[in-house]
Amino acid sequence: MSSTIESLIEEWDGLGVVTSYHRETDTWIFVALHDATLGRPTGGCRLKSYGSPASALHDAMRLAEGMTFKWAAMGFEYGGGKSVLAVPGPIDGTARRALFRHFGKLLNRLDGAYGVGEDLGTTPEDMAFLATITSAVAGSGHGSHPVDPGPFTAAGVHAGIVASLSHAYGTGDLTGRSVLVQGVGDVGGPLAVLLARSGAGVLVSDVDADRASAVARECGGTVVDPRHVYDAECDVYAPCAVGATVSRRTIPELRCRIVAGSANNQLERPEDADLLVERGILYAPDYVINGGGAMAFGLMERGTRDSAEVTNEVRRRIAGSLDGIFREAEALSISPAVAAHRVAAKALGRT
Ligand code: NAD
Repeated sequence: MSSTIESLIEEWDGLGVVTSYHRETDTWIFVALHDATLGRPTGGCRLKSYGSPASALHDAMRLAEGMTFKWAAMGFEYGGGKSVLAVPGPIDGTARRALFRHFGKLLNRLDGAYGVGEDLGTTPEDMAFLATITSAVAGSGHGSHPVDPGPFTAAGVHAGIVASLSHAYGTGDLTGRSVLVQGVGDVGGPLAVLLARSGAGVLVSDVDADRASAVARECGGTVVDPRHVYDAECDVYAPCAVGATVSRRTIPELRCRIVAGSANNQLERPEDADLLVERGILYAPDYVINGGGAMAFGLMERGTRDSAEVTNEVRRRIAGSLDGIFREAEALSISPAVAAHRVAAKALGRT
């Protein structure tokens, strides 16, 4: 990553970035506000170690932009925003609380300009704690705990995988299909269980070997060494960990028919969507298939409270959106990524 913080900000088309440094935990904090055309910038908080503060800022910006398109593609009145807590290493206990206290106070000073939720590396417990400091936690108005988006996201990805199978094979039946879930945390864990219940053979991979084994045991799946994720044979590769795993380097190795998972920014570059088309691999655009958690929050804000009802609505909408996108991509001979972008751009009034 050769960009500097200055050059990233100069080149970005977003609204702006709020930056803070928490000395006690040596953590850089970036709140990236991309777009407010449809409403208040709202998106999750990622806690992760990065090679440099500039890499963390770059990630926050890309993620915030993804949120703009995600909300627009789903037809909800929120804008694109995302935050990153760039920690130097694992963080727990009182240090973690101190960091979230500092972050909460920062969000209070933003006075409602950004709505925060969970993302990679942050937990429902972090959000519950944050909600005691700031009202900026999205979904915290529905009980003592903020809504955990993971299970809703997992349900949406499951429905999206069924829709993708249906498009690729003519049937969405998961019986006997193999799905490789990369990253079995808050989303990948429940997704693996849902897939197994639907009759799929589940392959599980995670840099946390203990977590991978526990989830594999729970869903009767097989653990795949993270070094062999990309060349493992499967029907569906479901990236549910970090972004940019679909790239010039990995696409030639893939031995799957479909890429459909929860991770944000799965493609390293926009052109990678075309490389997937060339290889005959169907790609379910990330910000459409992974919108379940955000959608659940939006539905609850609109008054749907029953969790089963929200889940069914999430499944129905994600399956329907993907089906439309796949059809449009085929009809116009464009990639599903470009087709999804057209839907979001239209909602943002940018066509
Ligand atoms: P999480 O932190 O709960 O879980 C991530 C898992 O991935 C962990 O088990 C971690 O050990 C593993 N992991 C990290 N790097 C890895 C790597 N290189 N290879 C394999 N495993 C790796 O995160 P989550 O909330 O489950 O989110 C997963 C992805 O889905 C993220 O990209 C996130 O942005 C995206 N997402 C999450 C939600 C949500 O509702 N939580 C919604 C939309 C998108």
